[in-house]
Amino acid sequence: MIRQSEWVLADLRIAQGMLNIYANFAKMLFDSERDTLTGLFNRKKLDQKLGELLTGRINGRKRKNEQGTDDYLAVFDLDHFKRINDNYGHLIGDEVLLVFAGLMRNALRDVDWVFRYGGEEFVVLIKDVSPGTIASILERIWVKVQNHGFPQVGQVTVSIGYTAIADQKLPPYVFEEADKALYYAKEHGRNQVCDYRELVRSGELAPEERLGGSVELF
Ligand code: GH3
Ligand code: MG
Ligand code: MG
Repeated sequence: MIRQSEWVLADLRIAQGMLNIYANFAKMLFDSERDTLTGLFNRKKLDQKLGELLTGRINGRKRKNEQGTDDYLAVFDLDHFKRINDNYGHLIGDEVLLVFAGLMRNALRDVDWVFRYGGEEFVVLIKDVSPGTIASILERIWVKVQNHGFPQVGQVTVSIGYTAIADQKLPPYVFEEADKALYYAKEHGRNQVCDYRELVRSGELAPEERLGGSVELF
């Protein structure tokens, strides 16, 4: 006959074993979607989230509503980051990336998604905001970065390109638009925020031509 106390000990061991398996699994899951330096979500996670967002829109669950709010994707790229590495070393460069990631995270709400896309490039996904709100959110981060005293380095600036997530069929199309606006910002003096749709509207950029004809933008 098995005594009660042996059952309890065996149960505890099983429970401990299960908890260890669960903790390992949770860590694996965390590691697979996070960037190791900053702890932000990684590029793989961005692809997944953006895919889900577009699928949701195609299925009609997410449509531009009457208030004129929309979802947005913005790409951030630190200006002349190579110079920071060259002048202060790679470790200080890493420190700048960490501080920058913290500034971004603190400036945004918990519901906003922040990703390290790679190197000194970051992406944010901001849902359900008006064109005026997205402009002021991004401008707030842009000002915050240039006013921040980064350890050793001092002032660091960032260029930002963004676009509304509207009728683009695929995640790369969304990213491409924001990246075009970022490229425009870099080419026109850096340290500024550029809206892809505004640049197309004003004739500064040509609208994207895609398979099956031009995409209707507005
Ligand atoms: P631009 O204003 O045009 O963006 O110029 P940039 O110098 O920021 O851009 P460029 O693409 O020439 O250089 C990016 C640099 O970022 C080069 C690369 O060595 C550095 N870098 C990429 N990943 C990391 C990282 O994890 N840590 C550090 N310290 N540097 C990195
Ligand atoms: Mg870059
Ligand atoms: Mg850069």
